[in-house]
Order: sequence, then structure tokens, then C-alpha cells
Amino acid sequence: MHYIKSRIILNTTGSLPLKKIRSKLDNSFSENNASQYGWAREAMRVALDEAAAATTHGDVPIGAVIVRNGNIIARQHNRRELDQDPTAHAEILVLREAASLLGTWRLADCSVVVTLEPCIMCAGALALSRISSLIFGAYDQKMGACGTLYNISCDPRINHQFNVTSGIMEEECAVILKDFFENLRLPDKTQ
Ligand SMILES: [Zn+2]
Repeated sequence: MHYIKSRIILNTTGSLPLKKIRSKLDNSFSENNASQYGWAREAMRVALDEAAAATTHGDVPIGAVIVRNGNIIARQHNRRELDQDPTAHAEILVLREAASLLGTWRLADCSVVVTLEPCIMCAGALALSRISSLIFGAYDQKMGACGTLYNISCDPRINHQFNVTSGIMEEECAVILKDFFENLRLPDKTQ
């Protein structure tokens, strides 16, 4: 697991090649500091349960939870296919649930824990909701906007930055996606 400093200076394109981003990571996860991330791993397990629930309606398994004062206050999963809504990503839904519960769109004391690196839309929504931190599991080489393709979380041109911790339970978060897409490619034996 890695901790991405919240104020990396970006190049003029606003993004960094993956190798360069990884080289800027510090505070790498190890057995020595594993205990300080225990709460995040617990929250990620719940997010993984949410991700699994998405597959029951044919959606890509991505789950997200919001942690506030040590408690999970909201949990959601991807519902894009179920709702036929291109914005029904787990992060958007969990932000809406938490905002509704708290009666405010400002989620300044909240941490979002999600199984996959947020896309551009979700990273933007995280900035708009003023969250304090993001923890994600697997990296998204195709759409990742919190370190892989873009780094919305620490772009100094945006008026809110948030801390990012990446790679928590990365393998479990990646495997559930890999299994889902492999099953999609299996021949349909019911026909
Ligand atoms: Zn998204």
C-alpha cells in the first residue's frame, strides 16, 4: 500500500506517467505499518462485499463505503446496468447516501474507501464533496484519475485536495474484477 502526498506538483499536462507517480509515493505499506491501516482494511472488506453484490444484477463489481469517526455510515455498489444510469458509480451513490444522512453536501470529515481507483467523474465528485481522504484498492489503467491517468486528488489548480492511500487489499480488489470479466467471456452453456 502506498500513500500519495496530497500536493504533488504536476507537469504542464496535468498528469504524470504511471512510473513517475509511483516513484513519488512514500510511506509504503509493509508489515511494520500494517496495524495503522487496520480500520481501512476492515472498511475495504465491506466495500468488497458491496462489490460482490453488484454482480447479482450484472454490474461490474465495484463497491464503496464512507467512514466517519471510525464508523461506516454509507455503503453502495455500482448500479450502472441496473439503473441504466451512466453516473451510477459506487462512489457517486455513496456520496449521495452520506450527504443525505448527514444533511450536508460538505463531507469534510469523511473518508471514502473504494475497491477500484476512481474515474474522472468520481474523482471530481470527491473533490466537490470536500472529503478528507480517499483509500482505494486496485489501480485502473483505463480510467484511473487518482494517480494513474490523472491525479485530480492533488491538482493544485483545483480548489480542494484530498489525501490518497492506494493499494489496500489491491489483489482482492483486482481479482473480483478479473473473475467477473473472465466469466463474461465464457461461452453461454444454457443455449
Ligand atoms: Zn467513477
